[in-house]
Amino acid sequence: MDEGRYRVLFENMDQGLCIIEVLFDAAGDPVDYRFLEVNPAFEQQTGLHDVVGKRMRELAPAHEEHWFAIYGQVARTGQPVRFVNEAKALDDRWFDVNAFRLGGEGSRTVAVLFTDVSARVRAERTQQDFVAMASHDLATPVTVLRARAQLMQRRQAYDEAAIAAIIEQTTRMERLIADLRDLVRLEAGQIELRRVAVDLRDVARESAERVRVQAKAHAVRIETPRDPLRGEWDPDRLGQVLDNLLGNAVKYSQTGGDIVVRVIACGAEARIAVADRGAGIPAEALPRLFERYYRADRGEEGSGLGIGLYISRMLVEAHGGRIWAESAPGQGSTFTVALPFEGDW
Ligand code: ADP
Repeated sequence: MDEGRYRVLFENMDQGLCIIEVLFDAAGDPVDYRFLEVNPAFEQQTGLHDVVGKRMRELAPAHEEHWFAIYGQVARTGQPVRFVNEAKALDDRWFDVNAFRLGGEGSRTVAVLFTDVSARVRAERTQQDFVAMASHDLATPVTVLRARAQLMQRRQAYDEAAIAAIIEQTTRMERLIADLRDLVRLEAGQIELRRVAVDLRDVARESAERVRVQAKAHAVRIETPRDPLRGEWDPDRLGQVLDNLLGNAVKYSQTGGDIVVRVIACGAEARIAVADRGAGIPAEALPRLFERYYRADRGEEGSGLGIGLYISRMLVEAHGGRIWAESAPGQGSTFTVALPFEGDW
């Protein structure tokens, strides 16, 4: 290829490319590098502008030492390198980098070909965190199960409290396993709704009953219209969504307070709203609540895996509906599920 064609390639490739001159100090250690040439994708991949002629340390004084060391080594040895590394000073990006020397022995010119892989690295981290948390959440009940069983074995006697604890922990594990299974199936598009004619008021009443059994510190009130609100929905899946919303309402309002479930006919939608008087949700977290693995109170004791609302959203959307949250921090949150509704029939 002639030079012009290489130029077209250089200008149009979506990988970032820069040619740098590595700068060494008197002792022969690499201390900085100067940009000789960069392609248009460079700016997009790094967020740095007008770099040609400038040194990296003037552009990003906090750039990690390892970058200078690696390019210095490439210039010195002529051995190309390929690596993935973090650049905190460049908005916390991660780069997949290929660096090789241009010219022979003694040349200080290095070509760096790179791609911003931050999204991939973050997704992998999140996935690893999730697996770690999920295994922790599964391991905890197992510990309780074993301890209780061993206690009974030692005493050689029936123990009602131990049995109750075993059932409670088994239920907890079952719920978690069901969530994990749903997560996988939903992502693979393998969940099928079993639509039957149901009255939304019944779905709400049954779910409220279930949560009342667990939530001793909360009053759960339900407000329904006088007339039935019927549609062709999957009552088990809608029950699951409501159980999740009510479970969260309990979990995130430790101070107690009323939880209100409202069933409303609203134009072309049948809605169920679950309102609590808990701590509420910061405005910036609201749009992200329904994302996979998202937790607003990251890492706090008692928070879950961040998949409940994601699964709920997928199930509601499978019904052609929508789900959203509103909240006044300090005063509570309201989660609303809206389903397409064709009116009375
Ligand atoms: P988790 O298993 O963490 O509860 P969810 O997907 O059900 O996962 O919820 C995601 C996040 O949304 C929670 O971690 C929590 O920070 C926030 N959240 C959900 N429901 C409520 C609520 N009723 N009040 C306050 N925060 C809530």
